[in-house]
Amino acid sequence: MDRQTDRLCSSLKRCEAETKSRCADSLAHCGENPGAGQDPRRTVLYRGSLKSCNYQCSYCPFSKHRISKRELEDDREQWFRFCESLRESAEDLSIRALMVVPYGEALIHPWYWEGLGGLTKWDALEAAGAQTNLSFSAERSLKIFDQFGGAREKLRLWASFHPEMTTCEEFAAKCIRLRREGILLCAGAVGVPGNVDLLRRLREMLPDEIYLWINKMDGLKRPYTEEEIRLFQSIDPYFDRELRHVPADERLCFNRLFVEADGKVRRCNISGASDKNWYGGHRKDLFEESFLCRRKWCSCYLAYGLREEETNQALFGPDPVFRIPRRPGGC
Ligand code: SF4
Repeated sequence: MDRQTDRLCSSLKRCEAETKSRCADSLAHCGENPGAGQDPRRTVLYRGSLKSCNYQCSYCPFSKHRISKRELEDDREQWFRFCESLRESAEDLSIRALMVVPYGEALIHPWYWEGLGGLTKWDALEAAGAQTNLSFSAERSLKIFDQFGGAREKLRLWASFHPEMTTCEEFAAKCIRLRREGILLCAGAVGVPGNVDLLRRLREMLPDEIYLWINKMDGLKRPYTEEEIRLFQSIDPYFDRELRHVPADERLCFNRLFVEADGKVRRCNISGASDKNWYGGHRKDLFEESFLCRRKWCSCYLAYGLREEETNQALFGPDPVFRIPRRPGGC
């Protein structure tokens, strides 16, 4: 382990220990005790066949794909089929949270709002949301969501800031508008070193209650400097977690599934494909059988952040998939 990693691990361990102890106190106080002897609390991530986006960020393959009417229709049908299947199974399988993680932008399409509205209306699902660039019309989209019986208090958004396509002002204003509409969300961006000042400005424009995460930049062909780490850490108190090397351990992942449009399942967004299918047999078994994740490291938030580890719930509540911390300012 090099000095930088060693230093990061120590600071993270300290932070985690403090958070656990504070959360244990506050949870004991309000009678909650995450994970202890309870029914499983399961999470499903869904990715449709959509591979397109209304943004044209230079680095992104989905901005180049022109989607046909037929492809959109397929995506719509597959999404509704999935929503129906989830409605049938959520209660029996203790599925409490759903997150849509599209390739491209899903929330500009009305059927996603219709589906999320219909699903959040049911008691079994306690929270449902999607990753988005926030470019959808809030007024039109929430109207559809409401029209289909959606429970706004269950809706969660994971808003990604794309500085090539929008400004800090516009993005922050949309986040604030959605909070006023009663929607919980997190916001975030890739930790491009050249964008530090911009992201600090965005942090200043957002209210404290909205957590701004920074993802490590995968294409950066060098380690972050100490100064860059310090600056990103000042924006995102959990940026340390992005820099750890977390060895894969599938035993910590039995309470989640990643489902694709045609029903193929894998354990998480980065794990290897399996031969199992959401539509092909006993869904309960999907949560209980090993799929061999075939990864060496859990190398992104949706991988490491959803493992059944006390710290994840202590930091991000009962459904860490939405990346909304109990304490947005960190420990
Ligand atoms: S790569 Fe995914 S499935 Fe494998 S251990 Fe990590 S989080 Fe779990």
